[in-house]
Amino acid sequence: MIKTILVLGSGSAGLIAAISLRRKLPQLDIRVVRSPEIGVIGVGEGTTPNFPKHVFDFLGISRKRFFALAEPTWKLGIRFLWGPRGHFDYTFDQQVDSQWNDLPMPNGYYCDEEFRCASVPSALMWHGKVFPRQPNGCPDIQGWHAFHIENKKFVDLLELLARENGIGIIDGKVTGSDRLSGGGIAAVHLEDGRRLEADFFIDCSGFRSELLARTLEEPYVSFDSSLFCDRAIIGGWDRTTEPILPYTTAETMDSGWAWQIEHEHHINRGYVYSSQFISDDQAADEFLRKNPKAPKSPRVVKFRSGCYKRLWVENVVAIGNSGGFVEPLEATALMIVCSHVQTLLEMLNRSHLNPTPTWRSLYNDLAAQGWTDIRDFLALHYKLNTALDTPFWRHCREETDISNIAPLLEFYAENGPTGFCRYRLPRMENDFGVEGYLVMLVGNRTPYRAKHTPTTDERQRWERHRADFIATARTALDVKEALGYIHHPGWEWHGDVAAQSAPVMAHQGV
Ligand SMILES: Cc1cc2nc3c(=O)[nH]c(=O)nc-3n(C[C@H](O)[C@H](O)[C@H](O)COP(=O)(O)OP(=O)(O)OC[C@H]3O[C@@H](n4cnc5c(N)ncnc54)[C@H](O)[C@@H]3O)c2cc1C
Repeated sequence: MIKTILVLGSGSAGLIAAISLRRKLPQLDIRVVRSPEIGVIGVGEGTTPNFPKHVFDFLGISRKRFFALAEPTWKLGIRFLWGPRGHFDYTFDQQVDSQWNDLPMPNGYYCDEEFRCASVPSALMWHGKVFPRQPNGCPDIQGWHAFHIENKKFVDLLELLARENGIGIIDGKVTGSDRLSGGGIAAVHLEDGRRLEADFFIDCSGFRSELLARTLEEPYVSFDSSLFCDRAIIGGWDRTTEPILPYTTAETMDSGWAWQIEHEHHINRGYVYSSQFISDDQAADEFLRKNPKAPKSPRVVKFRSGCYKRLWVENVVAIGNSGGFVEPLEATALMIVCSHVQTLLEMLNRSHLNPTPTWRSLYNDLAAQGWTDIRDFLALHYKLNTALDTPFWRHCREETDISNIAPLLEFYAENGPTGFCRYRLPRMENDFGVEGYLVMLVGNRTPYRAKHTPTTDERQRWERHRADFIATARTALDVKEALGYIHHPGWEWHGDVAAQSAPVMAHQGV
């Protein structure tokens, strides 16, 4: 039975895991060991909607304190500067996998020519606004958002929370371990000679994967036949007059793409590229040409996309970059951290802290499926993007392996953006849902045969819905104004905003 847990690493993964476990399984003795010399990766600033839920429900921090200490801004989705349209918006609500009661076809069939303002969040994104305005002028804070959050501020906040929750944080570098006769780990050794025992270890040591990869030698599964980028150049600047956009931007670049992440006082840019197609110096030149305000010597981070075959081996679970990583096109890393932590918690709880091999193998199967889903979804982004005709993008269109989702693409090519596409996905229950795939397909104007030509009446109805969204967006608040309200000392949070649902639109009855 597990009584003591040692978490290796105090980046966002390690601290999220430690605090969540401490709060939900208070009987456990949880310690964190980390090396200040190695430090944290210092990137990871875009999130998805499961992140607010985890922060508030699992870490137990109040919204007021979270906004005061972490200073996040809201993210309604991603603006892709991508594909033949030049741009399209991927929101966290249902733009495409949705149908109005007064229209005969799902939304996607009305978006061939123009794909914007197809829901309230997408109209808000288009107008640079974040939340509708209530009659009293205040923001009507809806649940269809994630956050942009500065890595350092977030990790500092997590460390404070960890200490408040009674979690001991030990400074020291892990250099070795004692093994159990059955194959797991009995204790880790620190450089200064200390020995730390535990019943269970959570490896959150980042790309070093000290326990899962280095000690237990778990094999690595590379995603390099689907995802070709392996480096990022990172450099931002302090905001002056630029508006705070309510979304992440993902812009097509010659040999990859660039993010723009919006913090209240800072803009963070990064160019994710493939070193097979561009050198670091060339990438830096292209990045600086686009972003003259960025520092002249931006930081280069190397990474690989893939995951370890099993994430839970004996008495070690790897969470965060130590278990796997995919490039940040959909900002999925913290999403996966939160989801893996929740699954682990649930399994430890259900097994009365005595998890059997069948729990482990179920965890490993679910985690592997999750990684595969994300790989396939990201790969589709690359396969479809026709914005540039550079060697990198030609290679992506020709060589990206999306064989896993071929049935979906075949069905779409005949039938178009119907919700029935969900039954052609390998699994329906991934975090993007069929909505994510349909947004990519419609956004990139992927051709399909069963065209629907709307009647004049249909067209007018569709435009009336859009006009309503646009009217809401025109009177809505931008990020700066909304932050002004919530930073006001008199502002009170009411209810669980993260649990509120999207505006009412009939989902397809499939
Ligand atoms: C280019 C890029 C962009 C990214 N963008 C996003 C994004 O937009 N959104 C997102 O969710 N994620 C993003 N990520 C992923 C992000 O890095 C992770 O989500 C997140 O920060 C988790 O990191 P971590 O805690 O796993 O590892 P780290 O932050 O690297 O922490 C590792 C910890 O382990 C400790 N450690 C390591 N070895 C030892 C040792 N031997 N002894 C003691 N301690 C040790 C370190 O000291 C540190 O405390 C991005 C990653 C990259 C590379």
